Amino acid sequence: MKKTSYKELGLVNTRKMFAKAVKGGYAIPAFNFNTMEQMQAIVQAAVETKSPVIMQVSKGARKYANPTILRYMAQGAVEYAKELGCKKPQIVLHLDHGDSFETCKSCIDSGFSSVMIDASSLPFEENIKLTKKVVNYAHKYDVTVEAELGVLAGVEDEVSSAESHYTKPEEVIEFATKTGCDSLAISIGTSHGAYKFTPEQCTRDEKTGKLIPPPLAFDVLKEIEKKLPGFPIVLHGSSSVPQDEVDTINKFGGKLPDAVGIPEEQLRKAAKSAVCKINIDSDSRLAMTAAIRQHFAEHPDHFDPRQYLTPARDNMKKMYIHKIVKVLGSNDKL
Ligand SMILES: [Zn+2]
Repeated sequence: MKKTSYKELGLVNTRKMFAKAVKGGYAIPAFNFNTMEQMQAIVQAAVETKSPVIMQVSKGARKYANPTILRYMAQGAVEYAKELGCKKPQIVLHLDHGDSFETCKSCIDSGFSSVMIDASSLPFEENIKLTKKVVNYAHKYDVTVEAELGVLAGVEDEVSSAESHYTKPEEVIEFATKTGCDSLAISIGTSHGAYKFTPEQCTRDEKTGKLIPPPLAFDVLKEIEKKLPGFPIVLHGSSSVPQDEVDTINKFGGKLPDAVGIPEEQLRKAAKSAVCKINIDSDSRLAMTAAIRQHFAEHPDHFDPRQYLTPARDNMKKMYIHKIVKVLGSNDKL
């Protein structure tokens, strides 16, 4: 693909967006996408709520949809937002969990406005070294870089870890200073996937039989904020796994026992702090699957994808709007 700057595509980086969000006590939604319906629902929700938005692409999404197609979809998202009446869309195209300098470079060269280099599984010094290499390249093109310290539990595409290790607050100053990264993903108890906690880690609501997850480590977040005042903090693995969607899926033939996420009031609390980017992926998958399963059960004669993808798209859009307005508070911030 021809070398392209994100600026030519009408995308923006995260710098100003994050500074405003930290000051304003809200967080920018970072929604993963790999299908056209997800992209449309994200753009519709962002335009209707007048919210900035980060559209992010994981390694799995690149494999599924093809990197070139995803890049053009993001370009299309900007034009679509304008068509829907948004004069100045604030859309970031972000690489989620970049695993090497080469992947980050190829994204920067093809029009991404933000990349994550996830070297959190490497020893501290090597994490710094690789992150710094990506930052040096990215900043030449005014692309912003997210780095990660600490390890999240759970499975997200090809990123997986059995255990979480909280970010060590005593490491963050050295890391941020030496790497020059623009934002930092931390581990304070969030987790990837739709099964964020085992039943053993939770308590169970006696009435409903539903799992109640353990609280996030807000004390660790507070310590980090003290060390790096005003520095943009990112939370991964922050789907809430809405139980009504899980119930719909299970009612119409699915099998997701004990799927559990991060309660929305915890995310709302986090959004008011220096946390200025909250990643949500599983909730979109659940919203889509619930609508499709219900549609198939109620219309066994349908076979046109448009018939079942329309309610799927509407359900995702409803979920995105809910997150923006009721959880992250990024509405009316354009
Ligand atoms: Zn993640």
